[in-house]
Amino acid sequence: MTPLIAGNWKMNGSLAANEALLGALAQGLAAPGAAEVAVCVPAPYLAQVQALKAKWPALARLQLGAQDVSHQATGAYTGEVSAAMLQDLGCRFAIVGHSERRQYHGETDARVADKAKQALARGITPIVCVGETLAEREAGHTVEVVKRQLAAVIHANGHCISEIVLAYEPVWAIGTGKTASPEEAQAVHAVLRAQLHAATPHAGLLKIIYGGSMNAGNAAALLAQPDIDGGLIGGAALKAPDFLSILAAAA
Ligand code: PEP
Repeated sequence: MTPLIAGNWKMNGSLAANEALLGALAQGLAAPGAAEVAVCVPAPYLAQVQALKAKWPALARLQLGAQDVSHQATGAYTGEVSAAMLQDLGCRFAIVGHSERRQYHGETDARVADKAKQALARGITPIVCVGETLAEREAGHTVEVVKRQLAAVIHANGHCISEIVLAYEPVWAIGTGKTASPEEAQAVHAVLRAQLHAATPHAGLLKIIYGGSMNAGNAAALLAQPDIDGGLIGGAALKAPDFLSILAAAA
């Protein structure tokens, strides 16, 4: 399957910084590659990236993603951004259920499932994040937690589940410099793959990507695992050489 390397810029960037970063990425993306590549940018900058993609042909390969989407379609939800709006701005992906949204914005499994549903209804691929905290891991609850989080999304989305990208992101590995070992990550990916197999005949084609301090040094070993189909990249996505090295490791 074609791997996916998706950057998550989080709440970083400015008009000037984004243009500089995309300019540097354009040089590395001009040639066709064997991996899919995307950046999930703050909502206010989606239009800027859409415009730069139109202006710079070298960015044609770069797909656009959002970092969140509303669980509602339209209406009186001040501050929310709907899937239809993301579609308008050319988004191919929307991250849903990132651990920072679950932790700081109280997003429940059911809410994350509704967000995935809204994205799918507009032809946007939700990158559904699941992952255990350090306390949950130490208590031996990793499998139970990620299966519960995924089950909610399967339950709400039925056969459309084959259209998602799943991201396993152990919370203790995000932004900490600690990475799950390739074997640890693979073990969880295999559990998630088995759960998807029970839900859809297309589970073998569904991308399960890993996120959590993936960088230029550890990407190749992680991406070599049979059930790791790409990466969701935070910190390293803000540095063009690092992001391009991870992309090269995937290709
Ligand atoms: C993320 O935010 O999804 C992430 C994986 O971050 P980092 O790569 O910085 O750990």
